[in-house]
Amino acid sequence: MPHDNDGHDEASKADASRRTFMKATGAATATAAIGAGEAAAGGDDHEDDVDELLDSLSLEQKAAQMTQVAIGTFDPDSDAIPDSFGVDTLGEYFSKLGVGSILSGGAEPPSFDAQTVVEGINDLQAYNLEHADHGIPFLYGVDATHGNVLLEGATSLPQRLNMGSTRDPELVAEAERHTSDATAAMGAHWTFAPTTDLQRDPRWGRFFEGISEDPKLEGDVSRARARALEDDDRMAACVKHFGAYSIPNNGNDRAPASTSMRDLRTNLFPPYQEALETEPGTVMVNSGAVNGKPAHASHWLLTEVLRERYGFEGLILSDWDDLYRMLSNHDYAPDFRTATKEAINAGVDMYMIGNGGTAPGPVQFIDTVVSLVEDGEIPMERVDDAVRRILELKVDLGLFEEPTVDESRIGGALGGAQEASEQLAKESMVLLENGDETLPLSGDEDVLLTGPGVDGNGNNTRALMQHGGWSLGWQGPSAGGPYPRQNLLVDELESRVDDLTHVPTTYENSTWWAGQGDGQNQQSDENGNFDFTDEQEADVRSAAPDADAVVVVIGEGCHNEGFGDRDELVLDEAQQELVDVVDEETDNDTPVVGVMLAGAPRGESETFDQLDALLFAGEPGSDGGVAIAETLVGEYNPSGKLAFSWPRNPGTPVGTVPMPYNRYPPTSTGATDNTPLYEFGHGLSYTDFEYSNLSVTPSSVKDPAKAETVTVSVDVENTGDVAGEHVVEVFNTQSYGSVLQPLRRLLGYERIHLDAGETQTVKMEADLSALEVVPGDVPAIQAKIVEPGDYELSVGDLTSTLTIKSAGSITGNGPLVSLYDTDDDGHITGKDIRELLGNVWKDDDHGRGKKKGHDKGHGHD
Ligand code: BGC
Repeated sequence: MPHDNDGHDEASKADASRRTFMKATGAATATAAIGAGEAAAGGDDHEDDVDELLDSLSLEQKAAQMTQVAIGTFDPDSDAIPDSFGVDTLGEYFSKLGVGSILSGGAEPPSFDAQTVVEGINDLQAYNLEHADHGIPFLYGVDATHGNVLLEGATSLPQRLNMGSTRDPELVAEAERHTSDATAAMGAHWTFAPTTDLQRDPRWGRFFEGISEDPKLEGDVSRARARALEDDDRMAACVKHFGAYSIPNNGNDRAPASTSMRDLRTNLFPPYQEALETEPGTVMVNSGAVNGKPAHASHWLLTEVLRERYGFEGLILSDWDDLYRMLSNHDYAPDFRTATKEAINAGVDMYMIGNGGTAPGPVQFIDTVVSLVEDGEIPMERVDDAVRRILELKVDLGLFEEPTVDESRIGGALGGAQEASEQLAKESMVLLENGDETLPLSGDEDVLLTGPGVDGNGNNTRALMQHGGWSLGWQGPSAGGPYPRQNLLVDELESRVDDLTHVPTTYENSTWWAGQGDGQNQQSDENGNFDFTDEQEADVRSAAPDADAVVVVIGEGCHNEGFGDRDELVLDEAQQELVDVVDEETDNDTPVVGVMLAGAPRGESETFDQLDALLFAGEPGSDGGVAIAETLVGEYNPSGKLAFSWPRNPGTPVGTVPMPYNRYPPTSTGATDNTPLYEFGHGLSYTDFEYSNLSVTPSSVKDPAKAETVTVSVDVENTGDVAGEHVVEVFNTQSYGSVLQPLRRLLGYERIHLDAGETQTVKMEADLSALEVVPGDVPAIQAKIVEPGDYELSVGDLTSTLTIKSAGSITGNGPLVSLYDTDDDGHITGKDIRELLGNVWKDDDHGRGKKKGHDKGHGHD
């Protein structure tokens, strides 16, 4: 919407808000105090103020505060509202309903023009404050998931799977502080990030949103991001999607997940717990179901684990239409009323309502909540609790004090953090293969650059592969733009080699929405329509023999959520043909280099065997062009390490996935080779690093609860001819205990820079909490502890032994007491188990109580 300059400057908008609020609610004192208190950065009085404000609201107004609704325009007069939503115009969300929050889902605000957005949102807030009968500012939430990639010209940070390969949480945080600033400057208050779901299954369309399959790395980076995203005082982060969203049984988005209590507590929950320690403003709930229970209906997940065990005090937001999804997806609730009741009683504070389809709208939600409270099916205290948290967040963000933002700030905030973004992109490059030291190129070569993409309209679609989903659109940018700030491989490589011939092959962005476009490929394994036309083939055949080197881009198109799911991880046929043709047209002396742009591991070793070198660039974002080009010519020496295991058998729907590096033995059985093609932590350099003098101090730990880390020291020498960065990692590689031990576990890592010939002693803090297991038998209900024993620690091929003398719990708690401690005495005894299991194993419970009494002193699980 073009800005309609109606005379509201910032100050008068804010004044209007306060006046309207005082008039409408009669809570003038509360509002004034909230504003003044915030300005003084105080807050002690806020609880009283919030309570007073809460008391002034009717039940309907409270239910409306619990409502978040997606907007497609900033124009209050717009009638582009789903018929079933119960209002006629956008403005009526505020004037009639008084909703507490709005969102722009899918990284797609009503406009990609920054000025239009900031002015539009300011005007809408002013409208809300003038027309809503309570005068409470709304919260505006967006998906700034890898940078504020919502606006033309914004910096698109490398996607989350790239962040994992850097092993550099500090640099990620530096970049994300810019995201916080730029997102606040556009007028949003809330970003639905960081995604903290452990990466595990490469078939899942959201694999690219995971940092790593390793819980420590996922937790470290998520923690850094959660804190950095709240760097601006007006910005709330959202740790999502709690919990265990990332392991759908069949790899399909929002399919149910079956896991074990042991896996939940050892691998899936710890990253959230780590991020929650930063006390983020909000948490979003997992859209799926875990062990037969939709997460949105799980009191155990949302209240017992998240609130009581992890102490989370902020706002719990549903995911998109997810109360309704209990009917539409899970076939769990018979009607919306049941779903609403279960979700709110489980702990959901705010319902995110999408923009239509068959899902109920805000009026139905508000009416349902009101009626459930009136009928005594949701306690009034539960609603008050939810609304108190919502109001507190608004106070904390300063919205009562300054409901709108300075419209000039966005100009300076957009597209920044270039240095951090470029450095991150470079650090995330993973060199998978480099036969005969093919790379780096010298720069004196005549190079043929080929591979996707260009579309039928001549648009450079490779840029889409570079950014991935959640970039100026849910499924990524549209071909033809608008685009984030970006530099492109073709331009960057051209300026670094003697001569460049470019033969882009066809990549058409998928038409993912039903019933439109050509109707094909709405959910293809390739995540895009790739082609290798006769003309393109002829051009490649004519250029390749004359080239000194060929760079072939391979990979997949941008994608998101269920539309990105793939049953196979093979490369599209057109890309395999292209590699065949390049192979045919080049002699053995011509290096052929693959560059992969993809949100998941892709391709088969047959294709890779035709390449002399292979660089996994992931989805490197705005500065991917520079990062790839500099790496290819050796201006940057690659240092990224895979943060996931690369499967060996990608070609069949029944391949050996998932196969995380920290899985239990055995590795291979019978006819199936269950080893990865590239291991977690794999990544080559243009130089060599050698380790010596590994030591662990202390080498013996009496009580891990009191000494949470040990220092691992190792000398690292750069034995090659060029300087380089290197990530040193320490793993636990052998140990025994009361339960199976993972093949390897990451305890610590450090990124260093070494000149050629230089040696450095690296001291890493190895985190002993990574050794925690849930001991005991199958139910896995005991406290998490590090068990006593000898632990082999390894850096490269060197090993050293760490002895743990006694059991100790480092993370200090387990999430289970309230569930299993049926008589609430702080101990899980045979009596509790009998109670839980009923009569099923009645005759078989001898001695159980006794055994539980001997649970190494950690019964307070
Ligand atoms: C996704 C969330 C996202 C929300 C709003 C949902 O479909 O699961 O991650 O924050 O949409 O765009």
